[in-house]
Amino acid sequence: MQVLCKSTNGNAEPKCCVCGQGFIMFWERQSRMERAEALRDIQKVLLSHHRKSPGQQAHPQGGFLVPEWNGPIAFSGAAILGHAPTWDL
Ligand SMILES: [Zn+2]
Repeated sequence: MQVLCKSTNGNAEPKCCVCGQGFIMFWERQSRMERAEALRDIQKVLLSHHRKSPGQQAHPQGGFLVPEWNGPIAFSGAAILGHAPTWDL
């Protein structure tokens, strides 16, 4: 499942845990499990954006797709499962 995320200034989830930027998500279908899984993936991608810049400008203005990263092992699916953050769903 792939999710399109676009930044928004409105009340949104998920929010970046680094800069607080909110995002809206677009996807074709969602179950509760898929939603939780996608939110974890999105948060990892948001974090990866901040490896280059600390501010809200680190995120692509036009939106981005998740999953889409070629990062180090710390950003792999296994690492996500092993260190899953808690979510307010
Ligand atoms: Zn951010």
